[in-house]
Amino acid sequence: MKESDCIKVVKFGGSSLADAAQFKKAAEIILSDPARRYVVPSAPGKRFSGDAKVTDMLIECQKSASCGKDFADILKKIKDRFDEIIKDLALDLTLDREFEIIYKNLEKGCTVDYAASRGEYLNAILLAEYLGFEFIDAAEIIFFGPDKTFNSDRTNLFMAERLLSARYAVIPGFYGSLPCGEIKTFSRGGSDITGAVVARAVMADLYENWKDVSGFLMCDPKIVENPHPIGTITYRELRELSYMGATVLHEDSVFPVKIAGIPINIRNTNAPEDPGTFIVSETTAVNPEVITGIAGKKGFSVVHLEKDMMNQEVGFGMKVLQAFYDMNICFEHLPSGIDTMSVIVDSSLIKGKETFLLNKLSRMVNPDNISIEPSMALIAVVGRGMVNYPGTASRVFSAIAKAGINIKMIDQGSSELNIVIGVAESDFEEAIRAVYKVFCKS
Ligand code: ASP
Repeated sequence: MKESDCIKVVKFGGSSLADAAQFKKAAEIILSDPARRYVVPSAPGKRFSGDAKVTDMLIECQKSASCGKDFADILKKIKDRFDEIIKDLALDLTLDREFEIIYKNLEKGCTVDYAASRGEYLNAILLAEYLGFEFIDAAEIIFFGPDKTFNSDRTNLFMAERLLSARYAVIPGFYGSLPCGEIKTFSRGGSDITGAVVARAVMADLYENWKDVSGFLMCDPKIVENPHPIGTITYRELRELSYMGATVLHEDSVFPVKIAGIPINIRNTNAPEDPGTFIVSETTAVNPEVITGIAGKKGFSVVHLEKDMMNQEVGFGMKVLQAFYDMNICFEHLPSGIDTMSVIVDSSLIKGKETFLLNKLSRMVNPDNISIEPSMALIAVVGRGMVNYPGTASRVFSAIAKAGINIKMIDQGSSELNIVIGVAESDFEEAIRAVYKVFCKS
């Protein structure tokens, strides 16, 4: 493929565009590759710890306005931030008129979505001017339905036509419009979703998501010191890890590119030479560590059931699950033995209903023993490479055993993509460190 045929959509997070110095870094990245044709900015984020995000300040303005309090001071602070960027970048443009409109709309009682969206709107105007790209308002190409849910088909259709008519464009992240014309935002952090939606519409070859970290880490750095970064991860592995509590990408921001088969590359604006993490549908890339990542969550309970000859009783499992269904409780895992069955559930779902649940199960399946064990943590060791490496499970278990930790539950998915282990909540962090250490030596 010729370089010019390739299309990249690049999304920059709030800290990547927090001030003029960050704007310069982002612009250098964008302009260094002609394939980076469509740019989706967030609103200016924090410049230092303790700083305020522009989106939060705008929401504060709307809150004050809606209860008749003065909001002029805080709006002025927001304007000062944008004016400083304009001055430091020596842009020949003013946002005075835009701020007058925002002020009037706040006075008139605008929605919180409208107020919150203005950070992206204004930042995109500045970035488009600085890059010499066309500004295309997201309100004209991202649509929500009358029920306020995102209308992906209509958006895709209109957006593709509009964007492909522009060679280079900046589209503000985070919002679109309702059928009545009002602004509607995605959930917080929603510029990631806009980036993915844009990538799908223009059928990009790559969706680059520029943040302030060099991709995903193999596990939580609050638990393991300096964990290795993940080079390549598949969408399925990502789902396993995020389901198990890893803060990676919001599901909605993965879906549009996942269905279109577009890879995502998480990059670091402050270290553009780092390759970051690639998220792909399929890959032949082998992780040197065999496993891709480790994640976990506390707050699970195990309902243990024991009954002689359970394996010969037709409908036993069905009746157990019926009890959970009747109480509107979904289960996470279902490990079973010959005469035992355990149902693992999120503790919050059975809180206050434990006695009722035990009695119901007793009536339905008449077990010999039944109990609930609270305070269990689940740890998922995820890796597409496990299928090709015999002994991976034994390495996981012996690492935990060597750390003197009792494993309460083991569940390996049939896809051999993950091994889920249950341990006491008090052993959670230590178990993760033990597993990490055995796969990642230094
Ligand atoms: N500015 C919005 C927020 O702070 C959206 C985003 O940054 O993605 O949530």
